[in-house]
Amino acid sequence: MQNNQKEHLYKILVIGDLGVGKTSIIKRYVHQNYSTNYRATIGVDFALKVLNWDSETVRLQLWDIAGQERFGNMTRVYYREAMGAFIVFDITRPTTFEAVTKWKEDLDSKLTLSNGKNIAAVLLANKCDQGRDMLLNNGIKMDQFCKDNGFVGWFETSAKDNINIDQAANCLVKYIIASE
Ligand code: GDP
Ligand code: MG
Repeated sequence: MQNNQKEHLYKILVIGDLGVGKTSIIKRYVHQNYSTNYRATIGVDFALKVLNWDSETVRLQLWDIAGQERFGNMTRVYYREAMGAFIVFDITRPTTFEAVTKWKEDLDSKLTLSNGKNIAAVLLANKCDQGRDMLLNNGIKMDQFCKDNGFVGWFETSAKDNINIDQAANCLVKYIIASE
């Protein structure tokens, strides 16, 4: 009998400034829990999420950043062979939004796919349980921002209240699969 069951393994990066909620988002997505007292990640951390995608299996290997956020960039080795990325900011801290373009540039300058394209990146406006004043008050047009900066989409997320994290991941996976 032929086995048509296809499997995909994707390395997904989760980057952004310190304290924006990267580790919390991964914990929520993979382990379905949330806690307010994570220690800062030291070293590279991985988590695996398995999805049933139509009749196929998708394994997402989520790479948490390693306390190197303060440098605002990562090494090529860390980015290597990634297929997608979440870039996260904290809607209550404008400086973390300002850092988004820097993270995106760092990513694109150090990693391109074999077809010459940039990897798919989804922007996460995290801590949306705290309100969305920062985005509104600054008149930031997120759709336009994503277009201008090459994000395939954006979501307001909350690791605390479990808002939109599955949706954001599905958006990324859909895009990656479609472009394979
Ligand atoms: P990281 O440095 O980007 O990995 O951020 P952490 O995941 O360690 O989160 C930093 C702090 O923000 C912690 O105190 C978290 O509890 C808090 N936090 C993370 N996500 C959320 C969220 O969606 N809403 C709120 N209110 N707090 C969050
Ligand atoms: Mg962390």
